[in-house]
Amino acid sequence: MTLMILIIFTIIVICILRNEVFLPRVEQKKVEEIVCQMAYYDQLTNLPNRALFFKRMEEFIIDTKIDDCIIVLLYLDFDRFKLINDIVGHDAGDQFLKEISEKIKSNFHENTIIARLGEGEFGIILPGVKDDNEIKDNCRKILRIISNRWVYENNVFKITVSIGIAVYPRDGRDTATLLKNADIAMYRAKELGENRYEFYSPNLSEKAREQISMENLIMKAIDNDEFILYYQPQFNIITRECTGIEALIRWNSPQLGMTPPGKFIPFAEQNSLIMEIDKWVLKTVCKQCRVWEDLNIRSKRVAINISSKQFENTKFLSFVKKILEETSAEARWLEFEITEGSLMQNPDRAIETLTQLRELGIKIALDDFGTGYSSLGYLSKFPIDKIKIDKTFIKDIPENKEDTAIVKTIIDLCKNIGSLAIAEGVETEKQLQVLSNYGCDEVQGYLFGRPVPLEEVEKVLRNTM
Ligand code: C2E
Ligand code: CA
Ligand code: CA
Repeated sequence: MTLMILIIFTIIVICILRNEVFLPRVEQKKVEEIVCQMAYYDQLTNLPNRALFFKRMEEFIIDTKIDDCIIVLLYLDFDRFKLINDIVGHDAGDQFLKEISEKIKSNFHENTIIARLGEGEFGIILPGVKDDNEIKDNCRKILRIISNRWVYENNVFKITVSIGIAVYPRDGRDTATLLKNADIAMYRAKELGENRYEFYSPNLSEKAREQISMENLIMKAIDNDEFILYYQPQFNIITRECTGIEALIRWNSPQLGMTPPGKFIPFAEQNSLIMEIDKWVLKTVCKQCRVWEDLNIRSKRVAINISSKQFENTKFLSFVKKILEETSAEARWLEFEITEGSLMQNPDRAIETLTQLRELGIKIALDDFGTGYSSLGYLSKFPIDKIKIDKTFIKDIPENKEDTAIVKTIIDLCKNIGSLAIAEGVETEKQLQVLSNYGCDEVQGYLFGRPVPLEEVEKVLRNTM
C-alpha cells in the first residue's frame, strides 16, 4: 500500500516538474520564462549572465563567418568597486550596479549584448564594427558615460572603469580565448593607471609569462637569502637630529644583479609572495634592532613598509606579536609605514588594526600621502602618528605653485589632526627652506643621506647617539 502511494506521488511530482499536467498553457509558458530568466539572466541587474553571453557570442561567430566582418568583445571592470561595498555596504553596491547597468544599456543599440560577468565585471559584444577607430569611439563613449561621481548618503565615490578589448578573429576564434585575452588587456589597462581602455596584443601574454618567471626567481630569492636591507635616516628639521631610519629592501640577484624594489615588488604584489617578503623584512629588522640594542648603538626607531596585502591579512597582528617574541625585539623600536590605499580597503577594520598596533607600542606613518584615495573625512578617524608627504609633491617646490600649496595644506592638516609631518625625497636646500617655513617636522631625502647598507647606517646611528 505504502509503495503504491509512493509511486503515485513520484509520478505526480515528475509531471509537475515537466509541466505536463495541471498547469494551463499560459502558466506553463510563465514557468518556462522564469526558468529561462534564472538560467540566462543576472538576477540583480536583469542583464544577460555569463552563460547567455557565451551563447550569443558563439551565435555571432557563426553568423560572421558568412558576413565576414569583425566582432568586438569588451571586458569592463569597475576600478575599486570593492570600496563601495566596504564603505557603504552591499545593498549600496547592488544599487550602484543596477543604476550603472541601466545607464550603459540605455546608451547602446538593442543588438549590443551587455552582460554581467562577475561582481563588478561586465562584458559587451559589439557586432558589426568596421575598424579599430570605431572600437575606440565606443570605448571612449563608455568611459564618458561611466566616469562620474556616484553619491550615496553623503559619500561621494569617483567611478572609473578599465576596459580590455579582444577582437574576433584576430585575437581568438572562440569565446573562451577572446574573453581570456580581453581580461589580460583589461589588467594591462588597470596597470597603466585605470579609467582607460587597452587592446589585447600577444605581447601582453608575454608579460604574463614574465610574471611567472619573475615569481619563480623571487621564490628562490627568499629561500636563498638574496634580499638585503638598506636604511635611510630621517631628521628633525629644526635640531637636525636623526629621529629614525627607514628600512628599504634591495635584491642581490645572481641573474638580475642588484635590483631595486620597484623592479620586483609589483610582481610580488600580484600574489602572496609579498607577504613572504614583508615577513622577512620585519624579522630581519627585529633581529637587527636586538643586535644594536645589545651593542648599545640603537636608539632610533626603524620604519618598515607594510604592503596592503599584509596589512589586510587577518593574521597580521598575531604574526607581528609572534616575530617580536621570537626575536626579543620591542615594539617601541618600530614604526609601520602604511599607504592610504591599504587603509581605505576596509576603513573600520583598519582603525581597529592600527589601534591595536599602537597599543603594542608601534608607531604608524601614513606613506605616500596625497597620491592615493585621499579621504580627508576618514583621515582624522585613523589613529596615526605621522604623515609622509609623497616625494612627487616635494620634487618641484617652490617653483610649482600648485605643489607648494598642496604641501602647505598637508602640513596644516597634520597640525590640525595632531600628527607629525615628514617630507620624503628632499634633495635641495630650497625645498628644505620651504618645508621649514611651513613648519614641517621631519625630513628624509638625498640632501641628508641616501639609503645605505647596514655598516654605513651604523655609523650614522653611532654619531647621533
Ligand atoms: P617608499 O616607501 O616611498 O620609499 C621611498 C623611496 O624614495 C625609496 O625608493 C628611496 O630610496 C627613495 N628616495 C629617498 N630619498 C629620495 C630622494 O631624495 N629623491 C628621490 N628621488 N628618491 C628618494 P626605493 O628604495 O627604490 O623604494 C621604492 C618603494 O618600494 C618604496 O617607496 C616602497 O613602497 C617599496 N619598498 C621598499 N622597501 C620595501 C619593503 O621592505 N617592503 C615593502 N612592502 N615595500 C618596500
Ligand atoms: Ca616608505
Ligand atoms: Ca613614499
